[in-house]
Amino acid sequence: MPRNYDIAELKRLDIKHHLPAQQDYKLIEDIGGSRIITHAEGCYIHDGDGNRILDGMAGLWCVNVGYGREELVEVAAEQMRELPFYNTFFKTVTPPTVMLASKIAGLTGGKLQHVFFNASGSEANDTVFRMVRHYWNLKGQPKRKIFISRWNAYHGSTVAGVSLGGMKGMHAQGDLPIPGVEHVRQPYWFGEGFGTDPVEFGKKCAAAIEERILAVGPENVAAFIGEPVQGAGGVVIPPPGYWQEVEAICRKYGILIVADEVICGFGRTGEWFGHQTLGFTPDLVPMAKGLSSGYLPISANAVSSEIVEVLKTGGDFVHGFTYSGHPVCAAVALRNIEIIERESLVGRVRDDVGPYLAKALARLNDHPLVGETRSIGLLGAVEIVAKPGTNERWGSAEGNAGPVVRDACIANGLMVRGIRDTIVMCPPLIISHQQIDDMIDIIHRSLDEAYPVLKAIA
Ligand SMILES: *Cc1c(COP(=O)(O)O)cnc(C)c1O
Repeated sequence: MPRNYDIAELKRLDIKHHLPAQQDYKLIEDIGGSRIITHAEGCYIHDGDGNRILDGMAGLWCVNVGYGREELVEVAAEQMRELPFYNTFFKTVTPPTVMLASKIAGLTGGKLQHVFFNASGSEANDTVFRMVRHYWNLKGQPKRKIFISRWNAYHGSTVAGVSLGGMKGMHAQGDLPIPGVEHVRQPYWFGEGFGTDPVEFGKKCAAAIEERILAVGPENVAAFIGEPVQGAGGVVIPPPGYWQEVEAICRKYGILIVADEVICGFGRTGEWFGHQTLGFTPDLVPMAKGLSSGYLPISANAVSSEIVEVLKTGGDFVHGFTYSGHPVCAAVALRNIEIIERESLVGRVRDDVGPYLAKALARLNDHPLVGETRSIGLLGAVEIVAKPGTNERWGSAEGNAGPVVRDACIANGLMVRGIRDTIVMCPPLIISHQQIDDMIDIIHRSLDEAYPVLKAIA
């Protein structure tokens, strides 16, 4: 059970001293401090005001095995007692680190046989940035410097992460992106292809990549980076065939493919990795979040043997972090993967709860505020529109409706995210049918409650 915290005092101290992530500090002050999450079990989180909230976001797209896994606590304690830390700088490594690398190589399979560790998804993408450029330099093609990415992609919050990402609001803060990153259109059918044939739209979006490659010169392009399914951008599921086109284009010009699997990895889409679900073969795979189900911070890059063979010709690759391959994080990640295997959570998403979520979401399609529902595995989205059968937004601008519906959902006991006017969900892989039904019922009720509020702004 939770400790008896003085919640009012914690809120006061939060405002006074704590700077939260991706937040408006003034707003947090105005609302009297952040919501304090005190404890959790299974698919539920609890806050300091006594609310039990169904966690439709699995923390932040990460708590795949759910909360309260005693064996993850035990394995961490055991590893801390035996060896709390050692590095991989000194021609040294720890047992869990080696075992985890080998385990991941088995899951990614094929040519992705090598694994580099970091502590976060952003760092994994910084590793991509440095490793790819170093690779091309060593390969004798030093002009290949450019990364092609998509608008509205999310690749993290570090300088390289924001630059590779396509969030214009993030670029605006800190004068990013850094040179050498090109952004092309995203395969967001509902937002940008509405009313057209989805497959044709996907082809157009892939063609935009080829056009950009030709515009900047194929000899200057190092890699294409993309999330198999965009998460933070609003659960953007590309039309069928998109990734096959992208793959063919990249191969045609000898460009590396980076699949950012930070959200899609570890069962989320119904296979171990999103690129397996969507059917393409990347050269580099950054992964994080579900790797440890968020119990400890750890990320990894699976790297093709071809790239590693080239890196071996370059002496020291002077890149790596104090916490690369941290033994406690590695031990927890290893056990987390064991849980996913033992409980067949990947197959459960593919054959059971994934299809169940899709069917449950479809019940929202008749609601006058809903323009589309979509899902893949346990990633779901609801598009809120002003007029049924269109993609018109409330108040003729994006972002009016999302926060209203999101806040109603949270007040009704469901944690979801509102991305512009898209309500997104990403529940733990252990979610039950009943909990999926609860989730959809709460969204339905929250849409009903939001309706008069939105009418007033229209
Ligand atoms: C969350 C996320 C990141 C960044 O991971 P952090 O651990 O927050 O640094 C990178 N890429 C994708 C696709 C993500 O969803």
